[in-house]
Amino acid sequence: MRFEDQRRLLVQELNTLGITDQNVLAAFGKVPRERFILPQYIEYAYRNQPLPIELAQTISQPLMIAIMLQYLELKKTDLVLEIGTGSGYQSALIAEIAGELCTVERLEPLSLKAQKVLKEQDYKNIHFRIGDGTSGWQKAFPPHKEFHKIIVSAAAREIPPRLKEQLADGGILVVPVGKGYAQILNRVVRRGGEFSVTEHGGCTFVPLISS
Ligand code: SAH
Repeated sequence: MRFEDQRRLLVQELNTLGITDQNVLAAFGKVPRERFILPQYIEYAYRNQPLPIELAQTISQPLMIAIMLQYLELKKTDLVLEIGTGSGYQSALIAEIAGELCTVERLEPLSLKAQKVLKEQDYKNIHFRIGDGTSGWQKAFPPHKEFHKIIVSAAAREIPPRLKEQLADGGILVVPVGKGYAQILNRVVRRGGEFSVTEHGGCTFVPLISS
């Protein structure tokens, strides 16, 4: 089956599994997942499962990404911060919906590869930083201080305080919290100095590694 047709079936599957945000579904209908994975897994490109990428990392499961993006309530006017660029697949999905994305990856070879793949696809609204994303967007261009939405795609031991600081008033942060396989998806909403946290079920991510 052609990738286009497989992509359409994945969108239907995500919808059946509870994803109703039309922006999210449209983005999954556009981004070619086959371009972000290792060639040996090409036949699994549109299976709803995570796949290994270089350096013992993973490209996230489509459903998990869709759930997180739905919790973010992404809009065209959003400035978004992503921690854990990885393959760049989720970066592309976010860049399809939001106005601008800043993404941080600690492993240089992964970031450089993602930058290349995303440039080939003509994304112009994504900025990259190589480093420890636990501290957020630091010493990077453009010099944004706060973000409407923040998404972390690796499991943190606690909600990273520096990321809470960089959340704009009314902003939403989605982050898996926990260690080993016992992780819970946390959603944080900021209202002034108040942060309300809700928990949204179990998940499994590679660990967020702080330097
Ligand atoms: N959304 C990505 C998922 C990548 S896996 C995708 O769909 O491809 C998580 C990524 O987080 C890995 O690439 C890992 O290297 C990165 N990571 C782990 N700890 C980090 C940290 N402290 N700062 C930035 N990136 C980190």
